[in-house]
Amino acid sequence: MINITYIYLITGINNSPYKVYIGKTKTPKLRKNHHVQKYGHDIEYSIIDEIYSLERCDWEPLESYWIEQFKSWGFETMNKNKGGGGPEYKSLESKIKQSNSLVGRPKPPNHGYNVSLANKGKPKHSEESKRIIAMKNSHPQIIVECPHCNKKGGITAMKHWHFKNCKQRQ
Ligand SMILES: [Zn+2]
Repeated sequence: MINITYIYLITGINNSPYKVYIGKTKTPKLRKNHHVQKYGHDIEYSIIDEIYSLERCDWEPLESYWIEQFKSWGFETMNKNKGGGGPEYKSLESKIKQSNSLVGRPKPPNHGYNVSLANKGKPKHSEESKRIIAMKNSHPQIIVECPHCNKKGGITAMKHWHFKNCKQRQ
């Protein structure tokens, strides 16, 4: 049996296109119900990542990675003390360096991550963090909506042309 920690994304908080919440859970359905109670039925809840471990040192760098990503795309994250500013903050890079167990984390059979994508990472990153980041950048299935022009599309293309880069951004 493979233990999985899920990273999830909540959008539609207070009907704001800017606000998102990123969290982790071992029980996605229970966690969704918790957030529906807190934020209402209009939220959208999406699983955006899976980590094949229940250990904090494995999921925390990925959770921070996603928080940083959404911040860099111009979203307001509702997370407290994670991914920036708060006392728990450390850069993703240093977290990944600390997280030696990421190097040997178990993978399910036939998982399709393309190792050659690691070459797209920035040179200052370790090989392992490059691989993680390239893997995340290759996620094609996450659909996001630009808060400036309301165009929807795959997360990889959208972050290049929209959010902070949107032509309709004031
Ligand atoms: Zn746009």
